[in-house]
Amino acid sequence: MSKLEEEEKKALANAETEQFEADRLVKEKEHRENIAARNAEAKAPDDEEDAEGEEDEDEDEMPPKQKFIQICISTGLLIAAYLINRALPDLKMWQRLLIYLVPYLAGGFDVLREAGEGIAHGEVFNESFLMSLATVGALLIGFVPGGKAMFPEAVFVMLFFQVGELFEGIAEGNSRKAISQLLDIRPDTANLVCDGEVKVVSPQEVQVGDILLVKPGEKVPMDGVVIEGSSSLDTVALTGESLPRDVTVGDQILSGCVNQNGMLRMRVEKEFGASTASKILDLVEHAGSRKSRSEKFISRFAAVYTPIVVLAAVVLAFLPPVLSGDFVGHFATWLLRGLTFLIVSCPCALVVSVPLAFFGGIGAASRIGVLIKGSGYMDALSRTDTVVFDKTGTLTKGVFEVTSIHPEAIEAKELLHLAAHVERYSTHPIAVSLRAAFGKEDDGCSVDDVEEIAGRGIRAKVNGRTVCVGNQKMMEDIGADWKICDEPGTIIHVAIDGKYAGHIHINDVEKPDARQAIAALKAAGIHKTVMLTGDREKVAQRVAEDLGVDEYHAELLPADKVSKVEELLHNEPEKHALVFVGDGINDAPVLARADVGIAMGALGSDAAIEAADVVLMDDKPSKIEKAIRISRHTIRIAKQNIVLALVIKVAILLLAAAGLAPMWLAVFGDTGVLILCVLNSARTLYTGRKGKQ
Ligand code: ADP
Ligand code: MG
Repeated sequence: MSKLEEEEKKALANAETEQFEADRLVKEKEHRENIAARNAEAKAPDDEEDAEGEEDEDEDEMPPKQKFIQICISTGLLIAAYLINRALPDLKMWQRLLIYLVPYLAGGFDVLREAGEGIAHGEVFNESFLMSLATVGALLIGFVPGGKAMFPEAVFVMLFFQVGELFEGIAEGNSRKAISQLLDIRPDTANLVCDGEVKVVSPQEVQVGDILLVKPGEKVPMDGVVIEGSSSLDTVALTGESLPRDVTVGDQILSGCVNQNGMLRMRVEKEFGASTASKILDLVEHAGSRKSRSEKFISRFAAVYTPIVVLAAVVLAFLPPVLSGDFVGHFATWLLRGLTFLIVSCPCALVVSVPLAFFGGIGAASRIGVLIKGSGYMDALSRTDTVVFDKTGTLTKGVFEVTSIHPEAIEAKELLHLAAHVERYSTHPIAVSLRAAFGKEDDGCSVDDVEEIAGRGIRAKVNGRTVCVGNQKMMEDIGADWKICDEPGTIIHVAIDGKYAGHIHINDVEKPDARQAIAALKAAGIHKTVMLTGDREKVAQRVAEDLGVDEYHAELLPADKVSKVEELLHNEPEKHALVFVGDGINDAPVLARADVGIAMGALGSDAAIEAADVVLMDDKPSKIEKAIRISRHTIRIAKQNIVLALVIKVAILLLAAAGLAPMWLAVFGDTGVLILCVLNSARTLYTGRKGKQ
């Protein structure tokens, strides 16, 4: 309402003051500059959607194509160097070094640079450092008395390492692309309606209250409400399901949906940064910052492991020759072993593939409309043992229908009228339903002093009379003489100035996939499903039996829900996890208390998206089991990688220490494991593709 006024004011101002016009001009100019900047960006090759993500990680990472060319050039130069050496057998050692230095530098200049940068930043022990040390060692070993020249081997090691990097780049690029494609919800432009004219502007410039035009085929750029026209919206990017949603005047629409047929005029209700599309993208982009246990383990492991390995290699190279008494005679042999040891021990397979697996898993989940806020929650999800549900809005639709009205000493219509007014500002599903049943929004009545009492009801002054609307608990609190009622369904009692005025029966329906969701969880091996509700025992029992929930607790206040969840947590073995699923309205404390809080996104309720660890974009409880399966799959792959890499590495390490592994085997082992692990990780991206949805 106030937004409409604002708009009128704006229009007036527009006509009257020149200042406004001037502002517009400045804005327009800025906007044109914006567009120009964006166009320039768009022209840059390969930047597409992944630009932001890559920037903060690694500015000078080479794109795969370039890396491939680099590897080819270096290989060509290596062959040339080899042939030259064959043709000129009389060359001095340093001359041959110079010849092989060409393919070596061509293939590994960026690795050397990274190692140098690492040292400059005080982070000495990274994989580039290991590789540089090993290869420089191999280049120089020929100069050690008794040492055999290993120039081509050194170049080989570098090349293999680069092949591994290439694979990593491709796999990561693919995951990123897949994720950004599926989250192709970032709006590019908005059609701003201004003085009857339509201007194409960037969404950042649009303000709350502005009017936008959304043409067929275009993305809805911001969250808002339809003020003219009707159409169906494709919500696939938000929910993973292509079922279109019909919208018409008065309906809320969310950024990221695609307008399929009709022309819509909308009023913006949230600025760009607060819009659903931005929030989701932000969430997915920063999912990596909440790391899983396996990821944390890997980074901690690498930090300790690498220096130890370098030290071990040094000891291996120097100690045996020193002990043998004939240092010069033995040094070359042991130096070679030390270098081989270094190459094998590079932990890149783990450092690279484990985060990649989680990245893919989070991507796979978001494709089916499940947003997981960090890989740590995948960890917990995979260990789920108990799933606790809130009833209203979670297992049931939360769209109540008024089935009957039982007034006492007042008109039925008046009872509904009062109830709807008390609920005027509430977002509770019951409130929304009562308002809908009453119809008229504003008929001039005054509503003041609204107080919502979670789990009980709501109180307000309507036209000067204090009206309470809520359950039996509320009636008891105010001492109203409420009536028992045997009809099934939820009962909303009403009292006026402390005197009982009758009750309204409302009925909710179960979500169509709720029963299947419970069954699927059982089939996935979840031990216990529990339903908690503030509704009355009778309703709870019926719903629980209907859906096949193991256990239910009714007539709970929000605080009781927290203590119930705590009780369940207490009874659970440490290694298992408890998941709480709620609709986000007054469930925030419980969501926070559970190991994993899953909220119904209610197609974008802010509170839900913020409080929860996981958000179901389309409010379907059946997605929970899918999310658990994806998480389990992801964790399994991460673990496979850890075991595979460690076993192979330890085996080669032992062989290398014993002098049984030639350098080429070490390199092959290292790169081979890396490639295997990376390919294995890439599989997570495709989990959930097998299923129908
Ligand atoms: P649930 O646990 O089913 O999600 P809540 O905890 O939100 O339900 O509410 C529990 C009960 O409290 C409701 O069944 C209703 O009787 C009463 N109640 C809560 N909020 C309201 C409201 N805004 N208007 C009327 N009754 C309410
Ligand atoms: Mg609820």
